[in-house]
Amino acid sequence: MARARVIVMNSALGPLDYRVPHGMTVEPGAIVVAPLGPRQLLGVVWEPERLATEEVGDNRLRNLIGVVDAPPIPAPLRRLIEWTADYYLAPLAAVLRMALSSTSALEGGKTIVEYRATGEVPPRMTAQREQALERIGDRQGLIRELATIADVSDAVIRGLVKAGALEGRAVDLDSPFPEPDPDHAPPVLSTEQAYAAGILQAATATAEFEPFLLDGVTGSGKTEVYLEGVAEALREGRQALILLPEIALTEPFLKRFHARFGVEPVAWHSGLRQAQRRRAWRQIAAGQAKVVVGARSALFLPYRDLGIIVVDEAHETSFKQEDGVHYHARDVAVMRGHFEGCPVVLASATPAIETRHQVELGRYRELKLPGRYGKAELPAIEAIDLLADPPERGRWIAPKLVGAIDATLARGEQVLLFLNRRGYAPLTLCRTCGHRFQCPNCTAWMVEHRLIRRLACHHCGHVIPTPRACPECDAEDSLVACGPGVERIADEATALFPDAKVAIVTSDTIWSPAKAAEFVARMEAQAIDIVVGTQLVTKGYHFPNLTLVGVIDADLGLEGGDLRAAERTFQQIMQVAGRAGRGEKPGTVLVQTHAPGARVIEALVSGDAESFYAAETEARRDADAPPFGRFAAIVVSSEDKDAAHDTARTIARAAPRVENMDVFGPAPAPLAMLRGRHRFRLLVHATRQIDVQDVIRDWLGALEWPAKVRVAVDVDPYNFL
Ligand code: ADP
Ligand code: ZN
Repeated sequence: MARARVIVMNSALGPLDYRVPHGMTVEPGAIVVAPLGPRQLLGVVWEPERLATEEVGDNRLRNLIGVVDAPPIPAPLRRLIEWTADYYLAPLAAVLRMALSSTSALEGGKTIVEYRATGEVPPRMTAQREQALERIGDRQGLIRELATIADVSDAVIRGLVKAGALEGRAVDLDSPFPEPDPDHAPPVLSTEQAYAAGILQAATATAEFEPFLLDGVTGSGKTEVYLEGVAEALREGRQALILLPEIALTEPFLKRFHARFGVEPVAWHSGLRQAQRRRAWRQIAAGQAKVVVGARSALFLPYRDLGIIVVDEAHETSFKQEDGVHYHARDVAVMRGHFEGCPVVLASATPAIETRHQVELGRYRELKLPGRYGKAELPAIEAIDLLADPPERGRWIAPKLVGAIDATLARGEQVLLFLNRRGYAPLTLCRTCGHRFQCPNCTAWMVEHRLIRRLACHHCGHVIPTPRACPECDAEDSLVACGPGVERIADEATALFPDAKVAIVTSDTIWSPAKAAEFVARMEAQAIDIVVGTQLVTKGYHFPNLTLVGVIDADLGLEGGDLRAAERTFQQIMQVAGRAGRGEKPGTVLVQTHAPGARVIEALVSGDAESFYAAETEARRDADAPPFGRFAAIVVSSEDKDAAHDTARTIARAAPRVENMDVFGPAPAPLAMLRGRHRFRLLVHATRQIDVQDVIRDWLGALEWPAKVRVAVDVDPYNFL
């Protein structure tokens, strides 16, 4: 009798065995429909020898219901799913769900019927019919579309079909994508670029796993170089995946890709409509969609034949997924390359210490692009000491920066002011009684958004209209905004430079690729003089007339003191500085800080990145922090505070005693309450030799906790809140 071992789409269940009925054949990877109790679930057939499960006798097996009309999940992706589940301590079904990310795609091939004119004249001609045939001409479309084009009712179009004047044709819903042409418009590369591109091309041609760090300052042409690797994959008839850290970056990237390859790549992100998702998924699985550019979720798509993987801005922490399966897309991308047998390129101007360490160990090969392309020079960075040169009372822009903005605008050039805080003010309080507006669901202040007259929690999305009176003491007009957000800086810029056109760029204003495109167009048309933006504006953009960058508060990222705070500040300011002086005009960067003597600020000003990294790396080594030691966080949460606390304590008491491993906590998380759930954290710290995952699996596997308590494990955490 034929049996099949199946991972069903239910994270609470392990693999299950089924009987394969007569007439059905399944191979590993096949996507199937399986019965579970009274329900039917999707699942994927797996190699039985790779998954242990309770042996069930033949007579107790239930029949598989059917095989889905979609290509099977390829073996390299099955290996990646196993690895991800194992490494991040996640259920296999939860990882598999990321691969089966379009339900519609699994419903099989689909056609729709479109209509077009036959040339026959209907026996009975009316004015409306005449109008319809004339306006439709040789167009083809759905009944409703043709009715709109012709400005008649659906019934008129249907009548024309009946009369033989229009005929139906089946159209494949998943039509192929136009294929990029590797030789459409290749750039003339500089000597350094050509050297790096040649190595990537050779690695792509050999079709073997090899991780690269493509390390080049902002504007050095990293994109041009890795696109040559992509071109090589296309020449070999294979696919390419390019991961970007933000959807907002997709739009300018699509344009650039179009210029190089003659067509746009296939985009994959959460903003796609269902029909777009299904078409992309099916064509990716068929190997027809050749180049995919997307957010981290594109990593688990069922590529048929990957020839190269690129992670652009690889140091970005947004590649770390913070809910569901807590994976890091940069690290999973390297593993995918390993299983697929293809090169992986991590491109960055400010590579993470973890990545640099891999280079030092000889595991990743470094390709360096030393300078900016063409005439562009790297901007000079200068610190403004806010204690010595403070802004006026109630203002946030120091006189020196004001002067620089003035001079830049006078030359007809553009300015970017960077502050990584959305809204108008991060805290609102009552002058009379001192009441502070806090989110009822989270340990967080409500942030004022003056443009929409709301107070909003940035953690859970809770929103209230900005009140006029204090809810505590009823005092009217007594509420004061404390501290700046981008909206407040924009107000200040407008007050200082009334003739300048000021634009705010945050996820509140740029929430779709179309909005991003609109912003780019306005910048290019010089319809904006001063941009005030969050980290959203620090990456990817190329505005040759932008010559001054002002960092409003360089100390912001250093607060909270997590392990990567200084490194992140360095990366962020280097990134935003990288927006200045990208064309022929030189750029200037002014960094406002209360701590001009801090190591990270000194490194930014002196441009001595190497000694900064060396010192940070040593500090990590001394503390046994990553990449030298390992962390894993265990976060216990529940709406019931006592239940969460009890479980956290039970977990701590059961902690195994392992040499070279410490368990800290439980302690209330810095975000002690989040979306109405109370949170306690334990932190596991161990040396690299210890298989932390194994230890945690055994430890937590032996424990039980109430259903209302959630226990989440975050391996290699980036977020310590
Ligand atoms: P990075 O990705 O390193 O920040 P980019 O690839 O965006 O750098 O290059 C910066 C700018 O220089 C872009 O406008 C790009 O088109 C241009 N550029 C880089 N290399 C070349 C080249 N070889 N030929 C023409 N333009 C180039
Ligand atoms: Zn909240």
